[in-house]
Formats: sequence, C-alpha cells, structure tokens
Amino acid sequence: MFETPVYLDNQATTRVDPRVVDAMLPLLTEVYGNAGSATHAFGWAARKYVDQSREQIATAIGCRPKELVFTNGATESNNLALRGVAEKYAGKGRHLVSVTTEHRSVLDPLEKLADRGFEVTLLPVVAEPDDQAGLLAAEQVAEAIRDDTILVSVMLANNEIGAIQPLAAIGQVCQQRGVLLHCDATQAIGKLPVDVDRLGVDLMSFSAHKIYGPKGIGALYVRRRGRRVRLASQIDGGGQEFGLRSGTLNVPGIVGFARALELCLDEMPEEALRVSALRDRLFQGLLAALPEVELNGPALDPPQHRLPGNLNVRFDRVDGQTLLATTTDLALSSGSACSSAESGPSHVLRALGLSEEAARSSVRFGIGRFSTEEEIDFAVDVIAEAVKRLRSLGSPV
Ligand code: PMP
Repeated sequence: MFETPVYLDNQATTRVDPRVVDAMLPLLTEVYGNAGSATHAFGWAARKYVDQSREQIATAIGCRPKELVFTNGATESNNLALRGVAEKYAGKGRHLVSVTTEHRSVLDPLEKLADRGFEVTLLPVVAEPDDQAGLLAAEQVAEAIRDDTILVSVMLANNEIGAIQPLAAIGQVCQQRGVLLHCDATQAIGKLPVDVDRLGVDLMSFSAHKIYGPKGIGALYVRRRGRRVRLASQIDGGGQEFGLRSGTLNVPGIVGFARALELCLDEMPEEALRVSALRDRLFQGLLAALPEVELNGPALDPPQHRLPGNLNVRFDRVDGQTLLATTTDLALSSGSACSSAESGPSHVLRALGLSEEAARSSVRFGIGRFSTEEEIDFAVDVIAEAVKRLRSLGSPV
C-alpha cells in the first residue's frame, strides 16, 4: 500500500533519504562546533567532517576539494558564477551567452547584468514537435561566441522537460575559443555521470535537495587547475570558502550532501533503469487511457537525451492548473514548475514553440527513488479520470 497524496514532484525537491538523515544527526547533536573555531575540539571535529565531505564530493565530480565552494543551494551558486565572472572579467568583455530554457536563477541574474551594460545572447532550442525538442547544438554556441564573450552558461539537464544538453561538445567549443563555461548541473548530478573535465566546464552549480539530501546546501565548482577562474565574491564577511562565500558553514548540510551524493553514485545504474521504467509505464498508461496526450521535450527513447525521472505531458483541451487543483491525491506541478515568481505559462514550454494554451495544458511528473509501480498506476487512474471529466465539462484552457 501507499499513502496519499502520492509524491510525483521530484524535480522540485526530494525526500531526504533516511540514510542521509542518519549521517547528519550526530552533526546536530554532538559535533555541533563551528568549523571555523580553530581553538577547541568541537571546531576541529566539525572541520574534519567538512574536509572529508568536501573531498568526497570533489571525487564524485572529478575535481579537487579546493575547487568547491559551499553555498546555500544552486540559486546562490548560479548567481555567484554569473555575477562573479561578469564583475571580474568586465574589463575583458561584456558579452554573455546562455539559453532560453535555463532556470530562472540563471536567466534573472543575466537580465540584471544586461541592465548593468552587459550584452546577453539567449540561444533557442529545437522546437516541438521533434524527438530532440529542447536540445541545443554545440555549433549554435560556436556561432554565438564573439571576441568580447566572457562566459557561456548552459544547463546539463532541464528541470521541466528533462532535456540533457551536449555539454561535452559545448565544453570543447568554449575551450577552443578561450571562453569560460558555466553549467547548472542541479538536475543532472547524482542522476547522470558528471565529471568536470570530461564536460570541459569551468564552473558548475548543484544542490543537495534534488538528490535526496537536505535543503539549504549546495556548491559551486570553480576551476583552479589549468585555466584558473577568478570570481568576484557576492557575500562578504568572515572570509570562509576561500573568501568567495562568507558565512558559517552548514556542517550537517555538508555532511548530508556528501552522503546523498555517495548514495546516488552507488545506486545510479540500477536507479536510472528503475526510475525510467516507471516513467515509461506512466506515459504508456496515460496514452492507453486517454486520447490527445502529447509529450513535451525530447523523446523518452533513446534515453540519452532525457533525465530518467522526468515526464512532461500536454493534455489537450485541459487547463493544467485546474487539473492539478482537482487531483489532490497527487503532488504534481504544472509546466511552470518550481518558480513561484513565474505566474504565466512556463518559459521553457514557450521556448519549445508551444502556444500559451498548449503550455497551460501541460503537467510535469517527477518520478524518484521512492516512487513505486503501485503509485504510478494510481496516478494514471487519477489523471485519466480527471482529464475525462474536465474535457466533458469543456474546461476552459
Ligand atoms: N537550477 C535548476 C535546473 C533547478 O532545477 C533548480 C531548482 N528548482 C535550481 C537551479 C535552484 O536550486 P536551489 O533550489 O538549490 O536554489
């Protein structure tokens, strides 16, 4: 049996794995020192945990411990990367390149930088209908780079449609042209193999709460080997994190982050298969139960273009918000996903060329580690019934 509401919003956030909680508890109750306290055993013990965790996370993404800056999450990491590079390299150039389907925590800082005299080029992605909808080509990045380009920012996996961008090819382009590459890998880390050298990235953002770890802790990878990236700090104070991010370290969070990533890596191949099988079951179930159901984003097969746990579906002639409001036994999100500031239809779905109406009739399903077959079958039944009812009522879209 399972409890309702059934949680199918794992791209918004995830439940903390009990094994992560176990790893964190001693840091709340026993080893509660400030990792910056160098004068006593509580501080030394906390520092040891931080060092071990930093090393573990660094190994997981193929970097050195000193190349990781802990932040409070990917939003902060993205802001530090974009503003930090723009401010430091403004003398070299003022042109930045990114993509229309990026997360708001990339697009909004870019907009603010544009207000401050930087020039931003946002590249389009493959439009619907196409098996590669949502994808960008490395050649587009090559064409967009100019002599005054200082940074390219491309996400690895999209949070709404699961599209996995060809980062390694984009990394090669950026390296050849001597331009820094930032990657928002928040949805990809722990789900796909991620190695900073293989991807050729110079900066990379990620967060613990998308990988069954706690909220309020994330990191920014900042390349120091070879091309050393310089950043202007955005939060100043005690000088923690190599002076790039001041503030007392969140030791329980850092330990939970490392444990969460370790579990993801240990279980990645099996979990990817299990989660994508559940996702396919959900989509097949919906297709069998209902007419006029369309997939948003890249095809589910072959699997390399889409996150295993992501499904984004359009139910023609149904308003997504109404559908979510009437299916209270399910925890889902509309296409506009986890951005409470975005009241209109999702900018990602609009970037795929969907009309406002089509974007508004879309729903995102995020399947995760704790999802079960029973829950998926239940979700199909609940959605099918609700969609049929709303269509019969002529729900306004
Ligand atoms: N980037 C992407 C792709 C995301 O999915 C999210 C979370 N919605 C963020 C950035 C922001 O992460 P955080 O919640 O850790 O600030």
